[in-house]
Amino acid sequence: MAEKKVKKEKTPRQLMPEQEASIRAKNFDEVPTGQSEETALIEASRCIQCKKPACIDGCPVSVDIPGFIKLIRDGDFTGAISKIWEKNGLPAVCGRVCPQELQCEGKCVLGVKGEPVAIGNLERFAADYERKNRKAPKLEKKPLTGKRVSVVGSGPSGLTVASDLIQKGHEVTIFEAFHKPGGVLVYGIPEFRLPKEIVFSEVAGLEKLGVKLECNSVVGRTVSLEELFEEGYDAIFIGVGAGLPTFLRVPGENLIGIMSANEYLTRSNLMKAYLYPKYDTPIIRGKNVITLGAGNVAMDAARTALRLGAETSRIVYRRSMQEVPARAAEVHHAEEEGVEFYFLTSPVKFNGNEKGRLTSMTGLKMELGEPDDSGRRRPVLIEGSEFDLECDLAIIAVGAGPNPLLTQSTEGLELNKWGYVVADSKTGKTSIKGVWAGGDIVTGSATVILAMGAGRVAADSIQKYLELGI
Ligand code: FAD
Ligand code: SF4
Repeated sequence: MAEKKVKKEKTPRQLMPEQEASIRAKNFDEVPTGQSEETALIEASRCIQCKKPACIDGCPVSVDIPGFIKLIRDGDFTGAISKIWEKNGLPAVCGRVCPQELQCEGKCVLGVKGEPVAIGNLERFAADYERKNRKAPKLEKKPLTGKRVSVVGSGPSGLTVASDLIQKGHEVTIFEAFHKPGGVLVYGIPEFRLPKEIVFSEVAGLEKLGVKLECNSVVGRTVSLEELFEEGYDAIFIGVGAGLPTFLRVPGENLIGIMSANEYLTRSNLMKAYLYPKYDTPIIRGKNVITLGAGNVAMDAARTALRLGAETSRIVYRRSMQEVPARAAEVHHAEEEGVEFYFLTSPVKFNGNEKGRLTSMTGLKMELGEPDDSGRRRPVLIEGSEFDLECDLAIIAVGAGPNPLLTQSTEGLELNKWGYVVADSKTGKTSIKGVWAGGDIVTGSATVILAMGAGRVAADSIQKYLELGI
């Protein structure tokens, strides 16, 4: 047995094939091209099927990881996807965008002395296999209950609530402000990381089950929560995300050529600037682009800039590489594609020409001082270290806040001091009877899987409320 374990551990982690960096930096096709059946079988055989699998503890929705990996190892790819679906309704998405290195793979025992099992790649493999072959048994729907649920927002939290409750036999309608569903999965995360077709196929699956989708409906403006109750909805879930951009508040920030990452990515993704010349969407195609911030949003913006023709794409971040919050894979891919990093640099002001167009950013160098409340070492300015960085497009990706449209127009909805909805973490219940909330609008910007987890918690609670009145 011990000998068998050693052998398995020695098999190297199977690499995911991907487009070559210089080629992919000029197109929007997906970067990793997916694992073959052969390499998936080898990778699955690396898992030593721990009796107490630490990987499951690292998964926010407790997917039976060794269970689905064993099924892949045995060649039962359809069984593997059914196993994942027991806990996660969007595996093709999560396999691509979850920060596995901080979650399941970060806990995998093989990672102690070597490389963890590529759990995310295997999850993606099982999901992609099912999308191509459609062999898994269809989701079952319970008989109609006559209860009606409205879901506000079609991001991962809303889609999870809709999926869970339609299967329980309730009538579910999703109201979405944009003209396409998917939330950040579609308007934020670019095609080269998450092809839109994957998200749309998940939504189409829900529609086939009977979920109704009303796009171009801004709840709080086109219709209020009160009106939804008057129309006969028994329960409402708020999953409107945290899409309000934050700015730096430094001089010159209103020059032409400075925009939020939210606007830049929405123009590229949802308004199809990435499909130029088929769609000639207005977007500034900078030659020298800087992106302020170093999260996933910043990496997506900086890499999109390259694909839209930038000669230089630079990330400016006030902390160091150790503190970069983006997924490791995104940082690695950005570096490979030629994105340059200016660490320990703080923007002081933006400079423009007589036409009001951005020409450069003045920055100051920083050094790391004592740890702050978050445990990260606080950056401290180095006096006299000012320098100018030439740029004609600056993308601000330093965080986002709650959009006040719905929250502030809804009487009785308790918000915290930052404007996020206050909801019980065990149920998702808000201060209004019959109204639940979850995802980024409760936690602030977080992750896809945490939003899905919150959706599941709320759906369970809504189910109890509709069935038992509690
Ligand atoms: P969202 O996905 O924000 O969806 C909310 C939806 O509600 C939107 O479609 C919005 O249009 C709609 N809406 C808003 N207001 C209204 C209204 N009044 N009426 C009707 N509809 C409304 N997480 C990861 O795990 N991995 C990543 O790699 C990753 N990359 C990211 C990249 C970018 C560019 C961004 C912005 C975020 C990224 N995240 C990533 C974070 C992740 O996408 C979010 O945490 C997650 O999408 C939050 O889900 P949600 O359901 O709360 O809301
Ligand atoms: Fe397999 Fe790693 Fe999970 Fe153990 S911790 S069951 S080796 S994936």
